[in-house]
Amino acid sequence: MEDFDFEVASFVPYALDQILIVGAGMAGSLLAFVLSRAGYGVTVFDPHRRPPPMFRNEKLGDEQIVLLRRYDALSCFADVCWPPEGHPHAYPADARPSLTDCGAPHHAWLTSVRDAWPANVRFVEAAVDSIATSDDMQVVTTATGERFAGRLVVVATGRAPRLLDELGLRRRAISPGHSVCLGFSVALDSSPSVVVQGLPGAGIGYVSIFPMPGETRVNVFSYRPLDDPWTRRMSRSPLEALAEVSPDAAEILAGARVVRRCEARGTDLYRVDQPARDGVVLIGDAFHAPCPASGTGMLRILNDIDVLARTHIPQWLGSEGMARTKIARFYADPAKRRIDRRSLSISLRARGSKVGRGPYWALHRTAVGVRSALRTAIAAAPVRRAAVSRPQPGV
Ligand SMILES: Cc1cc2nc3c(=O)[nH]c(=O)nc-3n(C[C@H](O)[C@H](O)[C@H](O)COP(=O)(O)OP(=O)(O)OC[C@H]3O[C@@H](n4cnc5c(N)ncnc54)[C@H](O)[C@@H]3O)c2cc1C
Repeated sequence: MEDFDFEVASFVPYALDQILIVGAGMAGSLLAFVLSRAGYGVTVFDPHRRPPPMFRNEKLGDEQIVLLRRYDALSCFADVCWPPEGHPHAYPADARPSLTDCGAPHHAWLTSVRDAWPANVRFVEAAVDSIATSDDMQVVTTATGERFAGRLVVVATGRAPRLLDELGLRRRAISPGHSVCLGFSVALDSSPSVVVQGLPGAGIGYVSIFPMPGETRVNVFSYRPLDDPWTRRMSRSPLEALAEVSPDAAEILAGARVVRRCEARGTDLYRVDQPARDGVVLIGDAFHAPCPASGTGMLRILNDIDVLARTHIPQWLGSEGMARTKIARFYADPAKRRIDRRSLSISLRARGSKVGRGPYWALHRTAVGVRSALRTAIAAAPVRRAAVSRPQPGV
């Protein structure tokens, strides 16, 4: 944290009710959209005006759709998943998959959200170098040396640790090397939307196959390490390596051709302990990173935004000062804590159920195996009975 050692007159002249959002990933970009439409003055900082391709979430769930609709932001996503007629990758109007069944490249969604910002969002194309905070006014300094003042700084810098160090905040590792996400795209005659499992003991969470405009996406959530030989084979020849661990996926992808190379991202689970600081609030992955396999990253972001925009930001800006005691109420908000706890619990249980050690997880896997065998047997039973009772030819 820096002390103030410069004149207010040296700031880029902004009103002091500005909210300064550092980082324009999904958390920062959506928060800017929501707050600016509610009439707040918002300045957003990010090194990239146009978001570069990045491997992040690419599909929406039902709860996410409800929250996006509440903030009138759903079209930013739907318009990318379902490009308008005439677009070379458009789905025919009568053959559109449901919005939960199709996806889009993350950077395309981000571009769409940023394009929907109202004119009162000011974008500064620069990384933020330092943040000076107080219980009243905050100052952000960019790598290009410009200074911006505001009443509140929102840090939405994802997994990048640097500004947290600067603010004296520490991340507590919850599950280092928790999972690896692998994603590639294929050309396939008809694009299904399915989730299939890996072989028992293969160390695979699940495989999600779904249509994106112009391609079929294959995302594999794995609990094998990043330097595992199979993970490396996935990067080189994803279809062949995937067939080793998931015959179900191989069957669906028969005849597919890889059109976008396989990327692999390792994930650690962490959260920031004692995050309350004067004038600064953390959202999204900057505060707490979930496992991508839990499918809750986007839900946590939307929930953070909902809780901030509906309750805390109006209270913070409607009263004097910006002391940490005010900020702490956000992290203690039951509506925030409930979703954060759920996200963490799903992340830990999903890994435990596949590769967890010890008698509890061994028993759990046996129970799941027995349940699945019973289901298969019950599903097959009527077919067998029908086969027995059917009259034989000539009888
Ligand atoms: C491979 C993968 C697959 C995933 N799949 C799913 C899924 O299926 N479902 C789901 O719900 N979630 C999923 N997630 C999680 C979800 O994508 C993330 O939780 C979410 O994208 C995090 O958004 P964010 O804005 O917090 O961080 P980020 O997306 O990391 O954005 C951070 C932004 O901050 C900027 N920045 C960094 N440092 C600075 C600085 N000093 N100054 C200014 N700007 C800065 C960066 O340029 C970037 O734009 C997945 C994640 C990964 C990695």
